[in-house]
Parts: sequence; structure tokens; C-alpha cells
Amino acid sequence: MPTLRQLFLANNAQTTNFPLLLEFERAEGIYMYDAEGKPYIDLISGIGVSNIGHRNPKVVEAIKNQVDKYMHLMVYGEYVQTPQVRFAEKLVSLMPDNLQSVYFVNSGTEAVEGALKLAKRYTGRTKIIACHNAYHGSTHGALSVMGNDEFKRGYGPLLPDIDFIRFDNINDLSLITEETACVIIETIQGEAGIRVPEITYMQALRHKCSQTGTLLILDEIQAGLGRTGKLFAFEHYGIVPDILLLAKALGGGMPIGAFISSNEIMGALKDNPILGHITTFGGHPVCCAAGLAALEALLAEKLIDQVAEKEALFKQLLVHPAIKQVRGKGLMLAIELENFDLNKKIIDRCIENGIITDWFLHCDNAMRIAPPLIISLEQINTACQIILQSIDYHH
Ligand code: PMP
Repeated sequence: MPTLRQLFLANNAQTTNFPLLLEFERAEGIYMYDAEGKPYIDLISGIGVSNIGHRNPKVVEAIKNQVDKYMHLMVYGEYVQTPQVRFAEKLVSLMPDNLQSVYFVNSGTEAVEGALKLAKRYTGRTKIIACHNAYHGSTHGALSVMGNDEFKRGYGPLLPDIDFIRFDNINDLSLITEETACVIIETIQGEAGIRVPEITYMQALRHKCSQTGTLLILDEIQAGLGRTGKLFAFEHYGIVPDILLLAKALGGGMPIGAFISSNEIMGALKDNPILGHITTFGGHPVCCAAGLAALEALLAEKLIDQVAEKEALFKQLLVHPAIKQVRGKGLMLAIELENFDLNKKIIDRCIENGIITDWFLHCDNAMRIAPPLIISLEQINTACQIILQSIDYHH
């Protein structure tokens, strides 16, 4: 009899030659448990997903209730489905006035695709500007705006008319002109190794986009929904995007993404030709019910108010001669170490010791700290002790 692990390697498509191969049986709160019942602290939230922890009871209940009513009924945009309507209503109530039209899709990368298409349709322009070291997803359009050539190798030709600017560099904003359809940018860069831009930069970017009629697309797929200490990361900057992208934590553990804009801009998708973006499963009723419950739990449990204190505790505890820097905002942090080798060894050691962490796609000498926002101060203490012990073991 082959083991589960052997079957996984034989029949499930692999994304690397070195998968983690951990086997979990269940998850609850900040913990995931393996077959022997060993708990692991999920210090990366399944990459920015489990902001309110695994299996929040309100989310589980909402899913069960919705499954008892209906699951898929029809492709997106035709029927009036209560979970979609209520979820969009709640999101819109928490956003600036110009963000009132929510297009639900299935994933982050699909939200990116929808937004890029929308920007071209609405402006009638073709040029797109993105950032070096950006990560926006893995489909062709999103891959085209990825700011790292290595990952694009072998997939060309990708989308034409894309220019890359340096993140947080005001001089490069001069590339934005009246021919630019949109700038797509992570409000706080994730896979670049957590890069927090200056307020002056983000305000200058907003200004330049407004001046040239360029749509500003903020990708908050990783940074949104409380992770940085505000519901939306753009709130740190006193700016508002033309199109906002959400996914990951949006479904409380279920797959859903969204691109959100004004009724005027979004209207460009609905005629001439009709059906400018279509999706069978986008805004799946069970995912919307879960997402609404997750958002309500995030707010009711006042988790966002606690983020700054938790960030400060991580930064206070994570002091070691081998740590060059702990950077980031809220619970979206990176521990920078000397090099990849040391980072990898420490990550492996942390996993052995019951702490799940990893590195970043475009930054392999930094370790990811992005726990569920429900993590307690005591649990942060425990996690940091294990990280420091793991560093000591290898340094
Ligand atoms: N944008 C950002 C900033 C991301 O971090 C990710 C996923 N890591 C994506 C887009 C793509 O999301 P998905 O994997 O759901 O397609």
C-alpha cells in the first residue's frame, strides 16, 4: 500500500522538487496538527489567508448554513444571490465612496486579470506600469506584471506595453503619462520581502495617476483585511485607489477574490461588447457566506486594534546578532538574515520545533512572519523563543 505521501508525489502535480511534505489532519485557531497530534503554530497563515485563524466557528457555521440552502446556481452576474449581495454591501460600507462596485472572482490572480482588463477598457489605453519585484499572481496577465524576469522565463510572449518602475522611487513616476492605462502596485510589497513605501511616495503616485488619467490599482491581496493594522493598507497613506484588489483572507479560508471600483469605471465591462469579464464560480455563494462571516468576526473581535501591539512585541523580541533587520507593517513582517543558507536552515529547524514559516519568492534571505491576527501575546512570546533558539542552533 503506497503511503499518502507517495501518492501525493505520484499523482498530485508538483510545483517544486522540494515540497515541505508535512501532513496535517486538522487545524484550529493558530494551530495545525499532524497525524500524531503534534501542534504547529501557523506563523504564515497559509500565506496571508487565515487572518482570523483556522476554522473560526462563525465562518464554519455560515458555511454549513449556506450549504443547506444552495451551492452553485448560475454563472456570476445573473441571479440575485443573497450571500453575494450581503457580502458586497458590507465591504462597500467599509470603503471610501468611490469603491462601491464589487466584482467577485475566484482568486487573487483572477482579480488582477479583471482589473487589468477593466483599466484598458475604461481608459482606452494599452500601457501598463508595474513594479520591480512585484508579485501579482501566476496567470498570463498577472505573470506579465511580475517584477522578476526569472519567473517569466519560458512563458513569453507575455502582455506587451508594460514598463517596470522601482518601488518607492519617486523619480520613476515620470514614466506615468497620458498613455498609461494603469499602475498596478502592492500597497505594501509582499514577495519582495515586505517593503513598506514612504507616505510621500504613495501620495505622489496617487497625484501622478490622477494628473494623467491613469487608474491606480492597489493590490492588497496580501496586505488587506487587517493584516497591516488597518482594514485596508491604503488607509496608512491617506490615498484611495481607483481599483482595489482583495483575495486570500477575503474568504475566511474559502477561495474568493474581488476587484472593486466605482460604478462608473466598472460599468465599462457590461456593454460594447457585453460580458467584459465572466466567471462561472466567481462569488460562489458558500465562499461569500464565509467571507461575510469572516469580515464580521474580524471586526467584532476587534482584531485590527491589537495589531500594532503585536507587531511591537515581535520587533522587541526578535533581537539577535544574526538578525539584520525586522521590517514590515503590522503582522506582515520579514526577518532579514545574512543569506539564504542560514535562512533555510533556521526555517527547517523552526518547522521541526513546531513553527511554520518560510521565505519570500523574490527575497530568499528573509523569513516570513504573518500569523493569524488572533495570535496572543503569550503565543508570540513562545514563537519568538523558538525562532531565537533555532537561530542559536545554526549561528
Ligand atoms: N497579489 C499578491 C500581492 C499576492 O501575494 C498573491 C499571492 N501570493 C497574488 C496576488 C495572487 O493570488 P492567488 O494565489 O490567489 O492567485
